[in-house]
Amino acid sequence: MAHAKNFISARPHAAPAKASKASRKIPRKRRVYTRAEITGIFERLAAREPDPKTELHYSSPFTLLVAVVLSAQATDIGVNKATRVLFRIADTPEKMLELGEAGVIDCIKTIGLFRNKAKNVIALSQKLLAEHGGCVPQDRAALEALPGVGRKTANVVLNTAFGAPTIAVDTHIFRLANRLRLAPGKTPLEVEQELLRIVPEPYLRNAHHWLILHGRYVCKARRPECWRCSIADLCKSLDKDTTPPRAAIAKTASNGIRVAGPTESSAD
Ligand code: SF4
Repeated sequence: MAHAKNFISARPHAAPAKASKASRKIPRKRRVYTRAEITGIFERLAAREPDPKTELHYSSPFTLLVAVVLSAQATDIGVNKATRVLFRIADTPEKMLELGEAGVIDCIKTIGLFRNKAKNVIALSQKLLAEHGGCVPQDRAALEALPGVGRKTANVVLNTAFGAPTIAVDTHIFRLANRLRLAPGKTPLEVEQELLRIVPEPYLRNAHHWLILHGRYVCKARRPECWRCSIADLCKSLDKDTTPPRAAIAKTASNGIRVAGPTESSAD
């Protein structure tokens, strides 16, 4: 997997002599966590899932790009269902154009905003062929110039397809960063910049996968499952509540199994 060098230097604290315009605009926040605590959090998340992967199915940078474009306001499971059929017919920009907008609509009509998404998939396929020889560019500006591709999609593609240490801030990461007071921010960009500043270098490449998985399966939106969270002793969320819910106590008692303590976790 190729590494996109130019994105490694995009990390705000990688250039202490001259801060970039974007990082100068965002004031440094008072840190709630020490460096050791942040390292501890990522050590634990990494130990649980040493080689995290996106849950979207893809076989090339192009199919990843299309899957991520389709995933806006849709679940990964729903997107995978649609792309199983779509990618069997069209897994390159050329084949996508042969299939045409109506054909794409037919394959993806089970997911939200399918008409607009089909239009974008066709338009981005055209642009890739016209301007990039049918390849997905490894450059943020070129990616963001494609129809239907914003900063978050570009970050996912740069990270997952090309190994760049980018962090795509989705709803889970935005919630976690603010709830844990790890990288608070009012906008996804603020959160992204702060995470890029605080995540220790060895964990940067996979940080976004670990945070998404933790947000999706443990630190859930409605009720975080602190009682089985592997980072509960390090977490400084004001919402933290490690009391197990009654149902979990009853279930574990009937199985004769001890309820997980704050630094342990049962299966997701
Ligand atoms: S302790 Fe609770 S709030 Fe903190 S990370 Fe774990 S699940 Fe989220």
